[in-house]
Amino acid sequence: MDKQKDQQSALQVNSGIEQPPSVDPGAAMRFIQKRKPALTPLQLADEIRRGNRTILSQAITLIESRLPAHREKAQEVIRLCLPDAGQAIRIGITGVPGVGKSSFIETIGSYLTARGHRLAVLAIDPSSEKSGGSILGDKTRMERLSADSHAFIRPSPSGGSLGGVARKTRESMVLCEAAGFDVIFIETVGVGQSEVAVHSMVDFFLLLMLAGAGDELQGIKRGIMEMADCIAITKADGSNTRACDLAAREYRNALHLFPKNENGWEPRVLTVSAMENRGIEPLWSTIQEFEALTRENGHFEEKRRNQSRHWMMQSIQEQLIDRFYEDPGRRDQIRQMEEQVLKGELTPFQAAQALMDRYQDGQ
Ligand code: GDP
Repeated sequence: MDKQKDQQSALQVNSGIEQPPSVDPGAAMRFIQKRKPALTPLQLADEIRRGNRTILSQAITLIESRLPAHREKAQEVIRLCLPDAGQAIRIGITGVPGVGKSSFIETIGSYLTARGHRLAVLAIDPSSEKSGGSILGDKTRMERLSADSHAFIRPSPSGGSLGGVARKTRESMVLCEAAGFDVIFIETVGVGQSEVAVHSMVDFFLLLMLAGAGDELQGIKRGIMEMADCIAITKADGSNTRACDLAAREYRNALHLFPKNENGWEPRVLTVSAMENRGIEPLWSTIQEFEALTRENGHFEEKRRNQSRHWMMQSIQEQLIDRFYEDPGRRDQIRQMEEQVLKGELTPFQAAQALMDRYQDGQ
């Protein structure tokens, strides 16, 4: 009886389960295996061409890195991938926050992957430079597409100038194309200069707009509308349908007033609903029609050649600026010159010239 009582006591010590050793013997091995030597640029390029998404992500991280060694390596990978790039159709998508960009990309993205396309979604969001936060990247976006094995979504590179962010996105696009993605979306927020950067790296430029919000409210400048190959009025569902049809008619009339495009394409205005999956097919057909027409009349290639030229010139400017500021003493020199300008001892031009002269002399 006593023995039984003993066994029921909470104080009884049971043998319990065996404690695991404090160091997992497998972990050390796994750590060593993980630290295998970094892949060479040639190996990285080979893996990218095989469609290895993990390596593609790693290579894009090298492109985005601030370390000169990483950037050098990235340049080599890009060079090796270039012969396999250029086959995709590149589509720029812009519109103010809330217009429905991510919802639209989810819907048309799923439509495309279901039809055997492989889609890469890249972004240009220079807002992080000024505000420290990004407009595009903060919320969890495009959940369905993120889980789609035929889609690859990469948020905007963060920090740096618009030029720098745009260059990184353009270079990432080359790698995505080499990895076999045949449709590339480059998304941006319609609030500033970033549309111009996107326009200069895509074949087709799509502007998303809301019905009834007014052009000024949407921050859409005439210049942006002029760049558009297609305007899609979003959220054309439920009670909003009529307003969208009306807006579409107005924009159609407005576009007629713009000068004709050299490439022979007349910009279209469509209505879409991401929520009800409407207008997606006509939009994709429009893009295909555009591609067929401009390939046929030579403007497709012509535009890409012009873009390459533009990016070469852009890179020269960027590298010149980088080299100028590279010198650690430059900031002090600038401050001194600034003082002299503010005291009226030098004109701004003279001060700039003096700084440039010192740069040229290697000082
Ligand atoms: P983004 O900021 O441009 O990426 O816009 P979102 O895709 O995040 O959409 C902004 C808001 O509009 C969200 O509340 C969406 O639910 C809503 N929205 C997006 N697409 C549609 C649509 O096709 N129909 C309706 N009714 N609402 C939509």
